[in-house]
Amino acid sequence: MPAVNRTRRRQIHNTPSELGLCGLRNIGNTCFMNSVIQCLSHTTELTRFLRAHHTSTRTATSKDQQILHEFAKLIQEMWTTNVHSVTPMELKRAFSTKHRMYSDYNQQDAQEFLRFFLDSLHSALNSGVKGETLNIDDNLSDNKKADLTWEWYARHENSLIRDLFVGQLKSTLKCTTCGNTSVTFDPFWDLSVPLPSSSRCKLEACLDLFIREEVLDGDEMPTCSKCKTRRKCTKSFTIQRFPKYLVIHLKRFSETRWSKLSNIVEFPTADRELNMASYGANANSNVHYSLYAISNHMGSTAGGHYVAICKHPVSHKWHEFNDNSVSDAIPENCLVSSSAYILFYERA
Ligand SMILES: [Zn+2]
Repeated sequence: MPAVNRTRRRQIHNTPSELGLCGLRNIGNTCFMNSVIQCLSHTTELTRFLRAHHTSTRTATSKDQQILHEFAKLIQEMWTTNVHSVTPMELKRAFSTKHRMYSDYNQQDAQEFLRFFLDSLHSALNSGVKGETLNIDDNLSDNKKADLTWEWYARHENSLIRDLFVGQLKSTLKCTTCGNTSVTFDPFWDLSVPLPSSSRCKLEACLDLFIREEVLDGDEMPTCSKCKTRRKCTKSFTIQRFPKYLVIHLKRFSETRWSKLSNIVEFPTADRELNMASYGANANSNVHYSLYAISNHMGSTAGGHYVAICKHPVSHKWHEFNDNSVSDAIPENCLVSSSAYILFYERA
């Protein structure tokens, strides 16, 4: 390549609106990892933290801390250098040391990787205390129970990663015999939503299916705390606490991964366009989210390829990250496709 071209490119990549447009080399079926890393790299508060985070290999003592260390190094490289792509070899190595199933070079599921990856980052940063048991008076209001459960959870699991990604789900179990209801509150790192049978639907239809009341009968019957016996119950979900970053996983794959659904899910792409208020446990008029990244899976279950489409934090333009190559800006009306697999939203 002529020297003049290289110089010009370098200058372009030094402007704030071009930084971060850095590809990740594929080191053997690692597109699932590259796709997720690009989505996380465009999670602004995470990247801001990682760019300011300095660890040395010496202080990174646990396997999770090694992963955090390598990830922070990679993010710093992606957002400060003027190179077109970097190789995530050290991160892959650190991650495979902790999670042996990733040590070979097989294609993996991006959502599963995301969960393991965030869990490692969380564990590396977790300053929570262990051992305290949760005792909640059953006579308290649901909201009070939710708050106490959350505070207890936050004391155990205390990290920036939890602050950014974790929300709280309320599940309500109702006995069909006596009408008694019991609620439980659980943290969630993402929402795995089913797809309806129609070939084209709105994201809201998937969310409706997710929270929809479900009947637990037969072998699934829970024990009613009032009847003191197993009863047919209904179970439904609402969101008690909304996370800063909401990750929505479209369940395109069957449990066994033998089949893949190629429905088109029309998800909101514009700023503040996703309104989650109607899924909240409490009346809440202002729960707007803006899309900022998509992990796309193309092709069949066995093979297939992952890419990421992410919104640049400065230029607000969308780019496709396909391993080591980064596309020019693409229009917002091209984001929805049958490949969309994991959606990343930021609370507005
Ligand atoms: Zn009952």
